[in-house]
Amino acid sequence: MFDKILIANRGEIALRVIRACREMGISSVAVHSTADADAMHVRMADETICIGPASSAQSYLSIPAIISACEVTGAQAIHPGYGFLSENARFVQVVEDHGITFIGPSAEHIRIMGDKITAKETMKDLGVPCVPGSEGGVADFETARTLAADMGYPVIIKATAGGGGRGMKVARGEEELERAFQTARSEAKAAFGNDEVYIEKYLTTPRHIEVQVFGDGKGRAVHLGERDCSLQRRHQKVLEEAPGPAISEGERARIGKICAEAVAEIGYSGAGTIEFLYEDGEFYFIEMNTRLQVEHPVTEAVFGVDLVREQIRVAAGEELSFVQEDLQINGHAIEARINAEKLPSFAPSPGRITQYHAPGGLGVRIDSALYDGYRIPPYYDSLIGKLIVHGRDRTEALARMNRALGELIVDGVDTTIPLFRALLEEEAVQTGAYNIHWLEHWLARDGV
Ligand code: ADP
Repeated sequence: MFDKILIANRGEIALRVIRACREMGISSVAVHSTADADAMHVRMADETICIGPASSAQSYLSIPAIISACEVTGAQAIHPGYGFLSENARFVQVVEDHGITFIGPSAEHIRIMGDKITAKETMKDLGVPCVPGSEGGVADFETARTLAADMGYPVIIKATAGGGGRGMKVARGEEELERAFQTARSEAKAAFGNDEVYIEKYLTTPRHIEVQVFGDGKGRAVHLGERDCSLQRRHQKVLEEAPGPAISEGERARIGKICAEAVAEIGYSGAGTIEFLYEDGEFYFIEMNTRLQVEHPVTEAVFGVDLVREQIRVAAGEELSFVQEDLQINGHAIEARINAEKLPSFAPSPGRITQYHAPGGLGVRIDSALYDGYRIPPYYDSLIGKLIVHGRDRTEALARMNRALGELIVDGVDTTIPLFRALLEEEAVQTGAYNIHWLEHWLARDGV
């Protein structure tokens, strides 16, 4: 096992990894930008090292700065968290070339899954159900037109290098196709430096269902059920839950088995998430994330496992601490992503926290890097905390979420806490009868 791990991240996810390290008796190294000198992850780690100025390009995204920090501190492994360099295959390659262990899958698996066309082809070959669409990239508009006519409208044009909902355009009829095609390409070129796009059938009322998988890198893998992350705004998840309220035990077992077998087949190592759209009882693969997800705690809550601990174990060459039969769902968990944002515009609201009080009690977990007097810097993501509740069933989890939100105090900046209080009043949220468009419609109509 490692003696020392460097965490190439900040905020709540850096704390999350530090906590796992501490429980495992591993010492932790926090890296930070000058803007984060007073951050909680810096206060909590065993060792800290400044890696650059506020701009993430020169700090959290700087490969040379992070490698040097490892060499200076003697860390044997790097945990990338999510975002930043977590899905950067070149980073993984450089880490390994320096004899440091990357806590995550191989550069090759990250590369395959980072290119959406290759990912889709790979998954299709592995027997994972996919959204009907083009075989590979679509180079010109005429081809797109023929394909769309065959498939039937609506269709969606997506960037093969896409991420974060960018480079995606829907065409509801042929008259919208040319514009969608050209816009998706130019957006993709601007955002990712790669204008390759592909075309898919656009599903009109799907849910977002994602399956948590875990591979030991030696051809064994398990699944830890699904999360329903259908409550989204601008393709960003807002609230997540496990198990999915619309997924039956039989469906879970079926899709879970397909996913676990697929990752076992390719010898995948560590945590991964296979994302699907789910409509009319069918699953359609959209992408795989080769890292820990923001919403991993809902899975941890219902399965009673520590996913970060497992990531570290597998990276160190140890066995997974469970087999499929050990993994039984207990109750229901819900996560609310608390952002420092002003409603109703959702504009970032950085600034000084004048008062912070975290909720507590049975079945309540808060993953947050906030503290009284902390100044949220304006340079990074607006996620300031995740409130996760666990109950015996969905009804209990909802009541607990409402109760915990009532106890949570974050003063000094605007937050999305009122959004969740309002959402919990909604029948669609109470019954779980929502799809990926529900929240956008609700915000446009009733709003907060
Ligand atoms: P990104 O990597 O940019 O987040 P994804 O492929 O994961 O892109 O898609 C993000 C979101 O876009 C999905 O959660 C869904 O809301 C929507 N989407 C993507 N593909 C389709 C599709 N074929 N039909 C309907 N909605 C889609």
